[in-house]
Amino acid sequence: MTRMSEPPAVPALDLKAQYQAIRDEIDPVVRSVLESQYFILGPEVAGLEAEVAHYCDVPHAVGCASGSDALLLPLLALGVGPGDEVITSPYTFFATGGAIWRTGAKPVFVDIEPDTYNIDPALIEAAITPRTKALIPVHLYGQSADMDPINEVAARYGLSVLEDAAQAIGARYKGRRTGALGQSAAFSFYPSKNLGGFGDGGMIATTDSALAQRMARLRVHGMEPKYHHHEVGFNSRLDALQAAVLRVKLRHLDAWTDARREVAQRYRRLFEEHELLGLVGLPVERADCFHVYNQYVIRVPDADRDLLRAHLSNQRVGTEIYYPIPLHLQVCFASLGHEPGDFPRSEAAAGQTIALPMYPELTEDAQRHVVGAIERFFASQRYSTKGTERAA
Ligand SMILES: *Cc1c(COP(=O)(O)O)cnc(C)c1O
Repeated sequence: MTRMSEPPAVPALDLKAQYQAIRDEIDPVVRSVLESQYFILGPEVAGLEAEVAHYCDVPHAVGCASGSDALLLPLLALGVGPGDEVITSPYTFFATGGAIWRTGAKPVFVDIEPDTYNIDPALIEAAITPRTKALIPVHLYGQSADMDPINEVAARYGLSVLEDAAQAIGARYKGRRTGALGQSAAFSFYPSKNLGGFGDGGMIATTDSALAQRMARLRVHGMEPKYHHHEVGFNSRLDALQAAVLRVKLRHLDAWTDARREVAQRYRRLFEEHELLGLVGLPVERADCFHVYNQYVIRVPDADRDLLRAHLSNQRVGTEIYYPIPLHLQVCFASLGHEPGDFPRSEAAAGQTIALPMYPELTEDAQRHVVGAIERFFASQRYSTKGTERAA
């Protein structure tokens, strides 16, 4: 028997819909890699590198094993190491800080803009010391950081700028795509990213040919040619299977981005229709940015975010928290000596934000269910507030 009253389940992410739509294009290229038995680097990886470089309008792209390594490789190739400092924001995925740490350098945090959640360029200069070597602005949730003032301060102090573009392939700042907005940029092909593989993968885009060459060597144990090791690198190669899949998907990326932007517009319209704008902060899209909505993150400053999350889970709506603990408060970075209150905007965001279901195939009906469930949450909150007042 079908239970008509059961609301539809809306997962936070649905990758099967995308695969079903393009499986006729994907399956043959996977089979052809299997037939070739050529699995590591090779022509598929070189092809993807050329296509991503062209897409970003930069001369070089270097494939590697993950987005995390795509942050680590350029730092190592720049010679960042012990005694150096690298500036980034603490409200990001762990890998941004982890890559800095892994070089032996010290992560130095700068708080975010409260509306975009990206690093606040106005606060960067005060964090620069004679030891600072590089800046890593993160394009969080799919919107570029404010790159002009970041590049300006970097140029004044002679610092390298590495974009953490893991969530922002295809995003634009003043018309130019991420990947071309600094000296180098890290992309991730983790399956949940806008251009996601069937496993791990990453790529660095760069305008600097010497940097590209050194990264290409570092990803194969510093070897060039075979069995001649100039420096100690590591194994961070991209698989041919991933590259073959990603080359197919890259052709669809702009259409998927447009669909994500439509989903974002529909969320805004539905929150307006349900008169929730006073209770829910929606993503802020800067006028000079083209946001690609890897995540659709709302903010509930006056409500208990975790209660809302539990309520949505009961209503079969999947959500995520990106990210509940800012990097400066992570146990592994305790030796940096930070404490609660050091980066108040990041800490506030970590306590108040919640990511709603977001993927290109998300339907308007599903979105109505999500926003309706949020409206019911706030209605019940108001009811319990009244009850408290009566009891008092
Ligand atoms: C996903 C992500 C990374 C790391 O990418 P992996 O491919 O998972 O290693 C780095 N930074 C940010 C902001 C990310 O979202």
